[in-house]
Amino acid sequence: MSDIRKSSIFYLEHLKSRGVKNVYKSKVKKEKEEQKETPKYKPFIEGLERPNENNKYSNLDEVKKELGDCARCGLHKLRTNIVFGEGNPRTQLMFVGEGPGQDEDESGRPFVGRAGQLLTKIIEAMNLKREDVYIANIVKCRPPGNRAPVDDEIIKCAPFLMSQISVIKPKVIVALGSPATCTLFNKKIKISEMRGKFYDWDYGIKLMPTFHPAYLLRNPKDKGLVWDDMKKVMSFLGIELPKTGG
Ligand code: SF4
Repeated sequence: MSDIRKSSIFYLEHLKSRGVKNVYKSKVKKEKEEQKETPKYKPFIEGLERPNENNKYSNLDEVKKELGDCARCGLHKLRTNIVFGEGNPRTQLMFVGEGPGQDEDESGRPFVGRAGQLLTKIIEAMNLKREDVYIANIVKCRPPGNRAPVDDEIIKCAPFLMSQISVIKPKVIVALGSPATCTLFNKKIKISEMRGKFYDWDYGIKLMPTFHPAYLLRNPKDKGLVWDDMKKVMSFLGIELPKTGG
């Protein structure tokens, strides 16, 4: 008999001798047990696929071919172009936003409007070019009025993003804004609380949530926070700050 068991029995006998008839589980223990039974978090979207190791695609062209002239969700009805994503398929760094806007819908390219131009500036400030990284979105067709994508659209479209990620396998994904971060974690989050830290994600990829460039256009005072986050990404990837003249 173990020492713990022996001393528990001894203690219970002692209580019995003092007239104690019932022994209740301590509140702390009960709370701990309840926590064990509660799932870690409620998924943001039930049924959202994670990237998976049995990924059947060996390159991005295959993912694009499978996507085809997609009409899997209602967003296809209003789109001009599917915005698949672009950049270096062997990059260490990927940026993921929520969905195309009007300029992206018209051009078929991600992040080319005002917010995209700011993202390009951020990438260049990191001593990189757009062609060095890969840029994509959670959904590949423009949500009307630039609203955030809804559950059904994300469930239908995000698996293609997950396939792109599992082909590219970057070292770091920068999640731009709440919808992208919520989808990648499949968890409701507050971007202001989560940004600026690395989180472990699938395939050993590190995820860095930060503010969306469209938010920075409305709140330029927070540009410094995003730059702080990007410096962490640069340091992790061993990218040196550009040398300033002098
Ligand atoms: S948003 Fe995605 S799933 Fe929906 S129609 Fe466009 S490509 Fe297909």
